[in-house]
Amino acid sequence: MAPRSFLHPYAKPVKEDFITVVRGEGSTIYDSSGKAYIDAMASLWYCQVGHGRAEIIDAVTTQMRALATYNTFDPWTNEPAEQVAEAIAQRAPMEDPRVFLTSSGSEAVDSAIKLARLAHHLGGRPEKEVIVSREHGYHGVTYGGLSAQGIPANQDGYGSLVPGVINTPSQDLEAVASVFADHGSTIAAVIAEPVQGAGGVHPPAPGYLEELRRLCDEHGAFLIFDDVICGFGRLGSWFGGEHYGVRPDLITFAKGVSSGYIPLGGVIVGPDVRARLESDPEYFLRHGHTYSGHPTACAAAVANIGVLEADGLVERAKQIGVLLGDGLRSLVADGMIAEARGEGALWAAGFEPGTDTYAIRDAMLAQGVVARPLTDAIAFCPPLVITDEEVARCVDSLAEATK
Ligand code: PLP
Repeated sequence: MAPRSFLHPYAKPVKEDFITVVRGEGSTIYDSSGKAYIDAMASLWYCQVGHGRAEIIDAVTTQMRALATYNTFDPWTNEPAEQVAEAIAQRAPMEDPRVFLTSSGSEAVDSAIKLARLAHHLGGRPEKEVIVSREHGYHGVTYGGLSAQGIPANQDGYGSLVPGVINTPSQDLEAVASVFADHGSTIAAVIAEPVQGAGGVHPPAPGYLEELRRLCDEHGAFLIFDDVICGFGRLGSWFGGEHYGVRPDLITFAKGVSSGYIPLGGVIVGPDVRARLESDPEYFLRHGHTYSGHPTACAAAVANIGVLEADGLVERAKQIGVLLGDGLRSLVADGMIAEARGEGALWAAGFEPGTDTYAIRDAMLAQGVVARPLTDAIAFCPPLVITDEEVARCVDSLAEATK
């Protein structure tokens, strides 16, 4: 049988057999054979409020009946876009920010890179173009984010990347300091995930993010936190910068902002970047996506933020983290895994190099638990509605799969 028409993302193009997901409720998804799985990855790091939430479905339905779609290029706006921007700005760890909207994390990252360079350009420093990024960083697949990624395998075969990106070893502050010493006057921004996600779930070394902030301040560069995974409650706070007490200039977000019910992403623009964009009243921002501020996507996000708040899910992430962390550490103690690393409700079991983590993933799937293989690790990023008992089942399943 030839593969079907759908060319799957992040999959072998010749693969034929995929699991057809047909239904989801809370932390559980069901395939077409009726088999149930605990969705311990919240799909792909995003379904914060769990599946099947009536509040979001109703908000989307109501919005679609009134106005399913309309653009927000000058002169248009719509209520859900204004509301979601306001809700996000109110929760951001920044003074008086504004919010630019996209449909995905990759677009958010490209937008943040463009806005950082643009702000320097408007501030009379067009030579400040360099983007400093990190090994193991994942910033999406469009050319800006792809170029800033620190996972070389993802860049293979795609030709020339965006120039002016310098990738540094993941936790190595000396390396970043030496890049600043050599290129400080041309650095536009540093981009970092507060906790690196797809690159293996690596929390920052103590003091690492603070030092990035200090270096950026010293050299007039912007600090971009890529909160596409860490944002909207994942670490037990609304944003990663708040969790670590470090103030970024730009925050990229996507995924958890709408729990993925309808795709939405964006950039929170802090006061320094904002001031430069607004400095010339005649300046016209030539950046935007057809679906920036899509009313139905924004209505989904407004409802999602309401659920996160009403159900106390940002707080709940901390308890999930304690359970997951304790569970994984007990497997380390039993010699079943090499390492437990994570923060909030974002964790990974680390294995010795060369371990077949795909086989572990498959064994867990057979037991009805969805986790994600990442080179030498198995990641967990469950919906924030997961129960204590379900967390325990995830840890037990990992233990069983490693036997
Ligand atoms: N940035 C981070 C930190 C991510 O984890 C991802 C996706 O996993 C992206 C950017 C790209 O987001 P998207 O896949 O929505 O384009």
